[in-house]
Amino acid sequence: MNLVSLDSLTKVFTLPMGMEARLARLMGAKVQAPQVHAVNGISLDIARGEVLGLVGESGCGKSTLARLTAGIHAPTSGTVRYRGKPVAVQRGNREVKQITEVQMIFQDPYASLNPRHRISRIIGQGPLFHGLVSRENLDDYVCEMMESAGLDPSYRFRYPHQFSGGQRQRIGIARALAMKPEFIVCDEAVAALDVSIQAQVLNLFMELRERLQLTYLFVSHDLSVVKHLSDRVAIMYLGKIVEVAPVDAIYLEANHPYTRALLGNMLTLQSRRKTFVPIKGEIPSPLQPPSGCKFHPRCPHAMTRCAEEEPTLKEIAPRHFSACHLNG
Ligand code: SF4
Repeated sequence: MNLVSLDSLTKVFTLPMGMEARLARLMGAKVQAPQVHAVNGISLDIARGEVLGLVGESGCGKSTLARLTAGIHAPTSGTVRYRGKPVAVQRGNREVKQITEVQMIFQDPYASLNPRHRISRIIGQGPLFHGLVSRENLDDYVCEMMESAGLDPSYRFRYPHQFSGGQRQRIGIARALAMKPEFIVCDEAVAALDVSIQAQVLNLFMELRERLQLTYLFVSHDLSVVKHLSDRVAIMYLGKIVEVAPVDAIYLEANHPYTRALLGNMLTLQSRRKTFVPIKGEIPSPLQPPSGCKFHPRCPHAMTRCAEEEPTLKEIAPRHFSACHLNG
């Protein structure tokens, strides 16, 4: 059964106009404010208990998609459903269950923690506000959450600046767990950490998933980060999903040329002696996306048709979808 469903989700940001454009508009010219289609008609389902990895380069729209899924941004069009009900973004319209059960963990643990609050308050104020714990049980509850996230509860009266980067990310995890979530959106949750600390935090995510039957949307720019955690992986490029498949199919039988290019950039112990081949060029500006297939200016297999017609996601094997004209 699907816990989260995204249906034709679109998010358009309108940017402020430059001086020249504003002057031209004042003089009567029809000038439109520039628009960025950060998320462009994405439909995805996440089953209860599933971990969906979402991978793409910086600027592809994956963080916007993560925020739409968590109900932080309102979509321009399309719907996000949680347990079959549309997610309302305005706090006043949201059910308490939706607020507490859907939690988000951010890339920069320090920026997401109030530097003036002690850890006990950072972890405890949400569940206290939403009535998940009584004031008299709050201290025990905070200690329990800290232990679940691998932190020493005796540190609960310290401030965020007294912790290392890895410990701060664990505080962010403890704060999310304290809301008794069922679904956690992790946006580049380990990207700011050293490699050895990354492994510890990833192990913690896996252990919590098993113990608390959590569902994750795990966003990363790095395919090797999501490999051991995910059941399925979705690959995103310029606001679109270009391939989605069970994790083994992505790593062993990747179909889309962009996925294969990302895999080529993955450095593993086995591949450390191979020559590093970066993907050609840079991700184009979403202000002026290419015509047809958005990947065609960088694709080694591009044909005339690719610049003219946008490919749609097609099922090429059971539960394996890819958007490429090479699939006929
Ligand atoms: Fe490359 Fe064409 Fe496939 Fe796009 S549709 S990935 S340009 S072959």
